[in-house]
Amino acid sequence: RFLPDAEELTAAVVGLGYVGSCVAAVLAESGMNVIGVDTDHTLIDELEAGHCRFSEAGLPELIAGNLAAGRLRVTTDYEGVSGADVVVVAVGTPAGDRGVLVETQIRAACDELSKHIRAGQLVIVKSTMPPGRTRDLVIPLLEGGGLVCGRDFGLATCPERLSEGVALSELRTFPIVVGGWCEDSGTAAAAFWRRAVGVEVIVVGSLEAAEMVKLADNWWIDHNIALANELAKVCALFEVDVLNVIAAANTIAKGSGNVNILLPSVGVGGSCLTKDPWMVWRTAHERNVDLHTIPAAREVNDSMPHYTAGLIVDELAKLGKKPGEAKVAVLGLAFKNNTGDLRATPTLPVVTALREAGAEVAVFDPLVNADEAEKTFGMRMAASLDEAVSGADCLAVLALHREFEAVDLAALKERVAPSCAVVDGRAYYPRKTIDRLRELGFAYRGIGR
Ligand code: NAD
Repeated sequence: RFLPDAEELTAAVVGLGYVGSCVAAVLAESGMNVIGVDTDHTLIDELEAGHCRFSEAGLPELIAGNLAAGRLRVTTDYEGVSGADVVVVAVGTPAGDRGVLVETQIRAACDELSKHIRAGQLVIVKSTMPPGRTRDLVIPLLEGGGLVCGRDFGLATCPERLSEGVALSELRTFPIVVGGWCEDSGTAAAAFWRRAVGVEVIVVGSLEAAEMVKLADNWWIDHNIALANELAKVCALFEVDVLNVIAAANTIAKGSGNVNILLPSVGVGGSCLTKDPWMVWRTAHERNVDLHTIPAAREVNDSMPHYTAGLIVDELAKLGKKPGEAKVAVLGLAFKNNTGDLRATPTLPVVTALREAGAEVAVFDPLVNADEAEKTFGMRMAASLDEAVSGADCLAVLALHREFEAVDLAALKERVAPSCAVVDGRAYYPRKTIDRLRELGFAYRGIGR
């Protein structure tokens, strides 16, 4: 009922941030006409000029190609929304203290949409919402213009589950979860994704069921990483390589698959894992249900930058240096490998701790925008890897981007101090790289390694 049979569909994507720009580009790639709306004028100007502020492999080309082909149009004006068959909402839903939803973006977007949606349209919420909030916040706002949800327009929740760094390939292949306000809305949303991207669609029932799938994913990931981090701390006590332990532990079959312990690291950051579990905690707490695993996992993961800074100071001490006498080059500032995103990055507390301890710190990340880095870190990023590592006593690799994996280690050794340690905050260097580092005279230390 809420999706026309027409051969050509038109979609409007509201919010062209990380998620919205990827979704808009993938929908346009499928041949659909897409109008992208964002209130950030600078972002729209950048996109129109073929520049993409998110470091996502393939995204700038995909956006530029679809803009040039006329399948994608980006604007700050909501006018074009009424011409779309489907309206996808992808504005930010950040959270404040322990999961309190910051409603500003979703409220403003829904208020504006209520003036532009028309009868027969399907609205799809991709933004992550605490369970129940699409029903009690989004729908009343959308109905503000007089149309009634389920009667005049359809509404479904299809929470976005992509990971930054591999967003496009995941969007093209990952199953899409659908929860409909009513059966017609769910059916229309499922048909839309099948036609648009051709991926598997999982219809889970209500809006809240779909909201919970997204939150369950991130609750599990955060919890699992906390387990890996604590495992790493224990392995370190016995000089056991945590990666060997995890690889072997993961071979045992449980349920429908194997155990899948993820990897330890300098910490968990980004705009999702640091707030989504708290959104579940808050929702339950407000209904007098106390969840204990969420605060525990958050506390463990939040402790990791401090733990990593301790490893760096420890390695410097082994070289006979106090932090105040040493230079540390922090390589990789983003919140995880192969992205340039600095939101809630765990590398910031590491840099802060080292600077407070008196160390000279140089920072470099090839994927991060230099001005963004300066705003976040309060210091200018080195202009190149060579400049950052020059004379360093310790290289702290806190995001292992592909660019760093390709570095010539022998040439690197020439630029650093005669004794130099590598602290691998992602614990991902393969054994043969560690052997090579040691052969070249670097000391190596990883998290749980
Ligand atoms: P973002 O902050 O990068 O983008 C949000 C965009 O919405 C911004 O460009 C902003 O200018 C725009 N916006 C704000 N108010 C608007 C309005 N009234 N009208 C139109 N545009 C408006 O956020 P994001 O990382 O893309 O996340 C979007 C949603 O997807 C969030 O709910 C987030 O939790 C969820 N999510 C994010 C990821 C991720 O990896 N980043 C993954 C899965 C889900």
